[in-house]
Amino acid sequence: MSHVTLLGFPRIGLKRELKRALEAFWTGTGTAAGLAQTARTLRQRHWQLARDAGADSVPCNDFSLYDHMLDTAVLFDAIPDRYRPVFEHGHLDGYFALARGYKQNGHDLHALEMTKWFDTNYHYLVPELHAGQHFGLAGTQPIDAFKEARAAGFNARPVLPGPVTFLRLSKTTDGSDPLALLDALLPAYADLLQRLADAGAGWVQLDEPCLATDLDAAACAALQHAYQTLASGRHPHLLLANYFGPFGANLSLLQRLPVDAIHADLARGADELEALLDALPPNAILGAGVVDGRNVWRSRPGRVLPLLERARARLGSERVWLAPSCSLLHVPTDVAAETTLDPGLRASMAFARQKIEELRAYAGALDGSAKARAALEAQRVLLDQRARADGVARAAVRQRLAALAPQASMRRSAYPARRQAQQRARPLPLLPTTSIGSFPQTPALRKARAEHRAGKLADAAYDKVIAAEIERCIRFQERVGLDVLVHGEAERNDMVEYFGEQLDGFAFTRHGWVQSYGSRCVKPPLIYGDVARAQPMTVRWSTYAQSLTSRPVKGMLTGPVTMLQWSFVRDDIPRATVCRQIALALRDEVCDLEAAGIHVIQIDEPAFREGLPLRRGDWQAYLAWAVECFRITAGGVRDDTQIHSHMCYSEFNDIIEAVAAMDADVISIECSRSRMELLGAFTRFHYPNGIGPGVYDIHSPRVPTEAEIATLLDKALEVLQPWQLWINPDCGLKTRTWSEVEPSLAAMAAAARAVRARAGQLQA
Ligand code: GLN
Ligand code: ZN
Repeated sequence: MSHVTLLGFPRIGLKRELKRALEAFWTGTGTAAGLAQTARTLRQRHWQLARDAGADSVPCNDFSLYDHMLDTAVLFDAIPDRYRPVFEHGHLDGYFALARGYKQNGHDLHALEMTKWFDTNYHYLVPELHAGQHFGLAGTQPIDAFKEARAAGFNARPVLPGPVTFLRLSKTTDGSDPLALLDALLPAYADLLQRLADAGAGWVQLDEPCLATDLDAAACAALQHAYQTLASGRHPHLLLANYFGPFGANLSLLQRLPVDAIHADLARGADELEALLDALPPNAILGAGVVDGRNVWRSRPGRVLPLLERARARLGSERVWLAPSCSLLHVPTDVAAETTLDPGLRASMAFARQKIEELRAYAGALDGSAKARAALEAQRVLLDQRARADGVARAAVRQRLAALAPQASMRRSAYPARRQAQQRARPLPLLPTTSIGSFPQTPALRKARAEHRAGKLADAAYDKVIAAEIERCIRFQERVGLDVLVHGEAERNDMVEYFGEQLDGFAFTRHGWVQSYGSRCVKPPLIYGDVARAQPMTVRWSTYAQSLTSRPVKGMLTGPVTMLQWSFVRDDIPRATVCRQIALALRDEVCDLEAAGIHVIQIDEPAFREGLPLRRGDWQAYLAWAVECFRITAGGVRDDTQIHSHMCYSEFNDIIEAVAAMDADVISIECSRSRMELLGAFTRFHYPNGIGPGVYDIHSPRVPTEAEIATLLDKALEVLQPWQLWINPDCGLKTRTWSEVEPSLAAMAAAARAVRARAGQLQA
């Protein structure tokens, strides 16, 4: 009998119950007991759901109140000392202080740093360690989770990040190598494993997705040492899980890892199946991650079954477990809840529950069930039909893309000539000031949008609200004296959704929530069909804003890579092709804006960097098409139309050449939190075009002073030419209040005037 399992399940709940319970607890309207009760209910419900869907064993301790890396740090007592006093007010107080900061009882603590979990949109809290760090088993959460599941009658396997991945994702305050702490950490893991064995756990799952990345010799040695050490003590059977990509060169390590089962991502790593079968330790079970845990589409039996059959032919049926490729944390819970989605589209989709059901069908088929075979055959037919369904393949889009000339991604002239043309057409002062696009989304705006969506506010009335907000925004920017204005994005709720809703090929779910961090969830759009633009999307409000002022107003678009990156993307054609389709649709928008009199146009690409593949060897291919897509979007305009872009991060060094190759006339980037450290990148590489390193941090309510902004600008001028430097905040202002934005931008404009005077003298 084939064994079906899963590595992890979404935690937040179909109706975001965990979010509600967390927020109630944080605001004091809910109790700790209430939160614990919700968490327990969700765990039980999800185990039950997984079993009903066909799982033979389920993970436990995959649930977390906030984040699994944080849980692991707390479990092993890796708590920075400054937070310890908060734990005296209660364990949850301490735990959430690490997650969210703590400003009470005389403490003023920031949260731990947060960053992306591999190449997903999930963010984990970065454990903060130091040389000489002490570790010890300081909690019982995995053991409790196991007991809880067993008491409820489930065959459960505790899960936690493995020691090497845990350390590699941690940072140290003293710059020492976190991996040097391995020998200090291993006894705590060993202690846990022993207690799990005592509690009766048959298996434990240690996630080591670092195996999907490039590992140097030290990391390889660490893995070998870690698992040899853990295997030498008393422990449940060890399942070592790798996901988010193939093992690649790390395959050669597997033979030396004394574990009982190895999970492999066969959605992304199908090509290495043969090599993997050769590399498996003797007698180890293969966790065959055949159903893609990173997307929402039904799997293709024609692809999955041969993989499973091949594995079983080599290993025997007892040694092959069926699983999703990775934890289901990254997909929503149940597509059956999407009652408003087009039925044909819905039938082609699989969320967490459906993915387990698919695995059960594959298991049945392998075990000879005619019914399961028939179900898979029906799925194959359905997916074939789907390819021909309305809106999936659009002849016009395909023809246009096929006929796209290489010149489409080229501006007419090189940057120096464009710069001159732009300066002639719209003279700007030295060190021009601008902003990133959005202005505060006030409660009144949000209320109007909600009422409009609910049909309680008529279109005309809503439009009036938007128009008034845009005018307020323009007048304010004129008053402060900014040079290139924005309309403020009052009409936009979300920078991807706003465009997705207007583009063909996109669809939206009602409950398709995926955890981003803690209580925060996103509902990624679905790109199910060829992308096309039916009509202009932003021209109306941009031209309205421009009609109010004689200063240039920037048009504002979300770029193709970001649209792609923040959506669930169809898996029947390459991502690069989908991205090119979006680029073409946006290119038309750019041209329409230009024709309508908008001569400065920003194409935001905040997700450009996060699209980077996990392995360096794959970077070049990604960067090539990502850069090309940006250039297609921007490539249709005249020389005197100025293209801006914005990116939301400061780790720039390793992709600066690609960013330069995008050839935007001006880019704005995040900078102030790193105190312009990234400017180091510009001493190594002379960025050729205009650039605005953000001069103040919009993530904080703090209002910057004129003097500190001027200091940052002086620093920037040490490595950038005065003609290329722009002045702007770090990012959009939509999460700030007007009372913060007004003085902040006033300070920025004042600093600009001061530095401009000095830089002018310097230049003369
Ligand atoms: N134009 C967008 C804004 O200002 C950019 C946001 C982003 O890059 N994340 O909100
Ligand atoms: Zn940003």
